[in-house]
Amino acid sequence: MNRLVVVSNRVAPIRDSKAAAGGLAVGVYEALREAGGFWFGWNGEVTKKPEISYETLGNITYITMGLCKRDYDQYYRGFSNATLWPIFHYRIDLARYCREDYEGYRRVNAMLAEKLKPLLRPDDIIWVHDYHLIPFADACRQLGVDNRIGFFLHIPFPAPEILTAIPAHRDLLKTFSAYDLIGFQTETDRLAFQDYMTREAHGQVKPDGSLFAYGQKFRTGVYPIGVMPDEIRRMAESYRGRRPLIGRTTDGKLRKTIISVDRLDYSKGLLERFLAYEEFLDLFPEHRRNVEYVQIAPTSRSDVKTYQAIRKQLETEAGHLNGRLADLDWTPLHYLNKSLDRRTLMGLFRSANVGFVVPLRDGMNLVAKEYVASQDPADPGVLVLSRFAGAVHELTSALIVNPYDCVGMAEALDRALRMPLAERKERYEQQMQAIRAADLSAWRDNFLRDLGAFADQPSALR
Ligand code: UDP
Repeated sequence: MNRLVVVSNRVAPIRDSKAAAGGLAVGVYEALREAGGFWFGWNGEVTKKPEISYETLGNITYITMGLCKRDYDQYYRGFSNATLWPIFHYRIDLARYCREDYEGYRRVNAMLAEKLKPLLRPDDIIWVHDYHLIPFADACRQLGVDNRIGFFLHIPFPAPEILTAIPAHRDLLKTFSAYDLIGFQTETDRLAFQDYMTREAHGQVKPDGSLFAYGQKFRTGVYPIGVMPDEIRRMAESYRGRRPLIGRTTDGKLRKTIISVDRLDYSKGLLERFLAYEEFLDLFPEHRRNVEYVQIAPTSRSDVKTYQAIRKQLETEAGHLNGRLADLDWTPLHYLNKSLDRRTLMGLFRSANVGFVVPLRDGMNLVAKEYVASQDPADPGVLVLSRFAGAVHELTSALIVNPYDCVGMAEALDRALRMPLAERKERYEQQMQAIRAADLSAWRDNFLRDLGAFADQPSALR
């Protein structure tokens, strides 16, 4: 296989795969770990003098640099996280646009392409990740780079009606045509992209499925990001025999437990689920004192205003719920505003009776898959899953809910907690089949195969 160069916004050398990390970092790291290669991007620091640094750990060479304050404000905090993120998650109401931010976004993409160019060999395969870097290939092409370049979008792709709210949508979307292959999490995302290209950009779908727009031919595909089920199960099992992490009463009995793990982000529907849990305790009072809900929600992007607001709302609702319902020996909701390492998380998943994964909109949601893969096959818990998470396309035998339906979610929690063992096992087996069929290796291999990355394989692309 040709050398693989991965480009993503944030690059943090990973020393231990069991440490805390976000969905993209976990996926890319696992994808590179076996095959080896370069991982290029921002080191997360804001500095006056951005300089490139190199670090090799195992098979992976991390090539990173800082960003100056203006670039950070316009490219990262501005256009990426205050415009693209809310729009791509269907939250026009939270989106903010300013021209300078968009110019900064284009400028940083061009700067990163310039830094990468001298490091490239002609047969390197470049794999670009996520919404921060949509114009990256276009910037590379302008510098004369003609390597194969693929792009994978980790977040949803919105319907054109939503996307066109971005004033610069034409300029932005044109840059997609510089890629050889564009990958999406679900068919819904791919079709929304195709819809934009045919209706807004007057492109055409060719008989072989590729797109022709802006004078270029390029391909699209669906590559749902997966997990490594065996490794997850090993991590989860290593907690067996230890004191259960949650749910123990003062007299040593075990309560049933519900768990959620999400970055503190408005797309995750955290407030809606707290309200649904309260509704559940009101509608089904027999569960009071017999159940505990643990929400792990590490802070994320705390310097973006909308994130500060959601944190306050959650603290208010968590305080209200516990204040109203808790007793000396029972705390209904444990809200932890911090991150946990992956091994602890998998142990928590295994000991929880219900995985409550109910984002308002999510590209995939790896937590849903990790929850299932952590379960004890002889006594598995139940996944309650939002119809707006990408994972729902594969995990069709979860209890599927609408996160805007408070009572519906409360009823699903009740049903999950009462579900007989035989039904739990059947649903678990079906979900595990889907998780194994589209694991993390399949995600990487299918994408790279379609990009023509394997030696002696002619490009199916241009
Ligand atoms: N995660 C973690 N520690 C935490 C919270 C989350 O390691 O405290 C991991 C979690 O196990 C999952 C990833 O971060 O692998 C989150 O990915 P997901 O697709 O669910 O959401 P994202 O954060 O990418 O929107």
